[in-house]
Amino acid sequence: MNDGTEFAPGRPILLRGGTVLTMNDRHEVLAGADVLVSGDRVVAVGPDLPEPDDAVVIDAGGGIVMPGMIDTHRHMWQTAMRGYGADWTLSQYFVWYYLEHGKLFRPEDIHAGNSLAAIESLDAGVTTVVDWSHGLQTVDHAEAAVDALRSVPGRYVLAYGNIQQPPGVWTAAPEFRDFVRRRITGDDMLGFQLAFDVTGDPLFPERPAFEVARELGVAVTTHAGVWGATSDDSIRLMHEYGFMTPQTIYVHAASLSADSYHRIAATGGSISVATESEQSAGQGYPPTWAIRAHGIPVSLSMDTSVWWSGDLFTAMRTTLGADRSREHFEAHAKGETVMHAALRAEHVVDWATRGGAKALGRDGDLGSLEPGKKADVVLIKNDASPVSFPLLNPYGHVAFQAQRGDVHTVLVNGRVVKHEHRLLGIDLAAVRREVEATVEYLRSSMGEEAWSQGMHPDVAETKVLDNPYTYTDFRSSATHTRRED
Ligand SMILES: [Zn+2]
Repeated sequence: MNDGTEFAPGRPILLRGGTVLTMNDRHEVLAGADVLVSGDRVVAVGPDLPEPDDAVVIDAGGGIVMPGMIDTHRHMWQTAMRGYGADWTLSQYFVWYYLEHGKLFRPEDIHAGNSLAAIESLDAGVTTVVDWSHGLQTVDHAEAAVDALRSVPGRYVLAYGNIQQPPGVWTAAPEFRDFVRRRITGDDMLGFQLAFDVTGDPLFPERPAFEVARELGVAVTTHAGVWGATSDDSIRLMHEYGFMTPQTIYVHAASLSADSYHRIAATGGSISVATESEQSAGQGYPPTWAIRAHGIPVSLSMDTSVWWSGDLFTAMRTTLGADRSREHFEAHAKGETVMHAALRAEHVVDWATRGGAKALGRDGDLGSLEPGKKADVVLIKNDASPVSFPLLNPYGHVAFQAQRGDVHTVLVNGRVVKHEHRLLGIDLAAVRREVEATVEYLRSSMGEEAWSQGMHPDVAETKVLDNPYTYTDFRSSATHTRRED
């Protein structure tokens, strides 16, 4: 029986006997330990906790219990086009969404994408997502975005954006203000930010939008250091006008000078690294290897499922790989050998949990498993999987061995939303119908030719070099040569 009825509201939940990654300040890892949840809070963490009379016990033996993961930048609306842009560059993405087809998206299409992305996040143990929602071309689109987020029991931050208008224009609209008043009610399941990019125009046309953010008391998140789009000038202008704050999240920050990193570090902001994105799209090299020299806090993000995956296991894995690749690459160029890896599995697990909580100003109640914190909890356990044992290095196991199919149980705000590998109380079939309707609508609106061209961009030419060793053709001569041996 797995309908979730045993998890009646009010019953404490005891995750029994797992390896607990507390992600507390001391990064304590507790073997064979329990996590007790009551209401929306973690109430105790430790070995052999007494079992409350009415508790539901979840056997975490052989598994890893960790805080829910936090994604600080995902364009959830784009999940309705999952995988479509797998072979895009950043320029092709801009043309498709910003110039040509982004305008086609109706409120119901935003709803479809957000709903699917929200469900996908929970399934992968991502309990908080910043919805970097830059397809909100009308307030009706924004209503649809919020309706979708409210329909799936995760924790979200709506980062409101609109790529169809300059930020100074849409933030000044009375209906935008009215929307914020009506829909952003201050409960901790739905936060709010403004999401826009700074072009580097010396007239700094984004200034009024920053002033609106300041007036509303909300953070700004911005794609920074994006090759060919936003640059050091964007950072310098934000700094000179006094809009760089500890709450600012700089997404990518992958092609910036040391001067920009100094400005970010000095004003206390954080960088959301989306390695899978940066490696493929071309914003710049994933910056973790560079920014550790500046002491800038890091969180992780997936950016968009129109290209890539939507789980933070992949973010952790690719971030470790990119950082270490760069270290080896730089060392080899100097004839040196890296003897000790700078970035550890423990660091990326921290960035995927605590790092996200800090970036969102939620370190007080999210990001670690400690008494009094909100109960956003993930159990990684898959007894049927040959990858589930031996469990020797828990951080390494999370970063390099585990994947979304191993997410056994997920709690958000004390509520069990996934158990025994199945989502509870989620109508996936209904969301599938919504997404199918969106795809059908977009495909017919674009026309078959544009649809197909969008998915299959031209292939760059590869010139095969002349090879000095091909004085004989192995394909015709190989058999003759062999016979003469
Ligand atoms: Zn992005």
